[in-house]
Amino acid sequence: MADALADLPPLRETLAEHGLMAKKSFGQHFLLDLNITRKIARLAQLAAGDRVIEVGPGPGGLTRALLETGARVTAVEKDERFRPLLEDLARATDRLTLVFGDALDVDEGALAAGEPAHVVSNLPYNVGTPLLIKWLTGPWTPASLTLMFQKEVAERITARANDPAYGRLAVIVQATAEAQGVMDVPARAFTPPPKVESAVVRLTPRADRPAPERLDALQRLTAAAFGQRRKMLRSSLKTLGGEPLIAAAGLDPQARAETVGVDGFLALADAWRAAR
Ligand code: SAM
Repeated sequence: MADALADLPPLRETLAEHGLMAKKSFGQHFLLDLNITRKIARLAQLAAGDRVIEVGPGPGGLTRALLETGARVTAVEKDERFRPLLEDLARATDRLTLVFGDALDVDEGALAAGEPAHVVSNLPYNVGTPLLIKWLTGPWTPASLTLMFQKEVAERITARANDPAYGRLAVIVQATAEAQGVMDVPARAFTPPPKVESAVVRLTPRADRPAPERLDALQRLTAAAFGQRRKMLRSSLKTLGGEPLIAAAGLDPQARAETVGVDGFLALADAWRAAR
């Protein structure tokens, strides 16, 4: 079937026709401006035929922009109210597969049929961070991720040591992926507008992603170190090995967590595992 995407009615009309209002509990803030959805699709650097997993298509604005690139899109939506509208969209192309369910529970490897797949999403804010951690530390590895977060979360993802936003999230994310903020999006770009600004982050998983045991150790060390971020490592890591552990990792026991880079935390994780 030839694509009939260009013949689809404007999104606002589609939403009104289906009587759909945004639901707060599902973190719904829609992007109805084609200029913005197309820009996000461009930032995702997709080529025709690429596989994309989109979480939370909602009214399908970003989905339309992704389909315009020639990508094959599998869209996972939790809110059944969007089914009729999304099924209309799926009828306009043979490159859209719809899955209704919770993105936290889906098996992305099965959805992608074993092929590499890119994740692109204007994420529901309430599950954005758990989904990111699932994609970066779980059994399935995406080819790339282009994701909209609250700006404050985007800053915590991309922060470097000594930045105010630097913490556990930055360490876990950057140990597993290259992360870069690529676009700020003002609240007024969404319908309804959220209370805060948003930003798109582009992530590329590292080829040398730490193995699960190394990641578990990293989680444990960062939890202890940032749980008491103003304290010196020799105090916050006392129960995990204290000064001998810190020395084995080649770090200064008087350093504070917020000054230790990702490599430093990986060295701590390795020293902790070696000492067990
Ligand atoms: N992509 C649309 C856009 O940009 O206009 C909607 C984005 S809206 C911020 C988030 C979407 O994720 C909503 O459609 C919401 O119903 C859906 N959603 C919320 N929680 C979800 C979950 N756990 N799994 C899948 N979809 C979810």
